[in-house]
Amino acid sequence: MEVEIRDSEDGTLRFSISETNPAFANSIRRTILQEVPVMAIDEVEVAANDSVMDDEILAHRLGQMPLTTPEGYLLPSKCDCREGRCSNCSVDLTLEAEGPGVVRASDMESSDTEVIPVQDKSPIARLGDGQSLKFTAIARLGFGKDHANWQPAVASYKYMPVINIDQEARDDWEECVEACPKGILEESDGELNVTDLEECTICGACVEACPDAIEVDGDPTKFIINVESTGAMSPERIVREALEILSDKCDEFSEKTDKL
Ligand SMILES: [Zn+2]
Repeated sequence: MEVEIRDSEDGTLRFSISETNPAFANSIRRTILQEVPVMAIDEVEVAANDSVMDDEILAHRLGQMPLTTPEGYLLPSKCDCREGRCSNCSVDLTLEAEGPGVVRASDMESSDTEVIPVQDKSPIARLGDGQSLKFTAIARLGFGKDHANWQPAVASYKYMPVINIDQEARDDWEECVEACPKGILEESDGELNVTDLEECTICGACVEACPDAIEVDGDPTKFIINVESTGAMSPERIVREALEILSDKCDEFSEKTDKL
């Protein structure tokens, strides 16, 4: 299998894998979405809430805030405390605020400065004059398969496009060039060229406009995988952890079949 990094910037990673099949590409995507654990607020103990927002809505909003996730924390199910309440498996984010004003994510004080909201300007609630808000939010590791709050990234894959052009079929390519919604077809010296193959979404608009000259298909052995992190951790770490999880599953499967 060949792996090639296509792009890596601002919390996104795009890479291609070849000599494989759709099932494998999809297993990477699903593992990223569902099985790479990240920190998220899981429980909120509200001591005072005079805001117009119900405690439940407040907890829901806090749960959806991505938190930076350092290495080393234990899943509550794997921790000796068994309660998800010790410093090895949980982090407290406390807030005590008085109105008037907007309470933001950065107003929460974390028991671990490495576990903080990714977007520190996110508003939590607006407090009126004399209103107060006081809570302890408990963050723990969890899985995207249990709740979207624990999803570390958005991940997708697509087939590598294959565009075949019969250069002898036409003299005028204007119709074909204009049909492409991505604008990746270009005419030069009487020939039609593809300027950026990976931008092709295999929509088939060019084939519809010029069925005599263009064929578009997806290569079922080569895929482009796109990972956009929520900011909880780098996309490189998300992919690395997903691959380790997949590899552990294969080892376990192999061990069990050895015993048959
Ligand atoms: Zn614990």
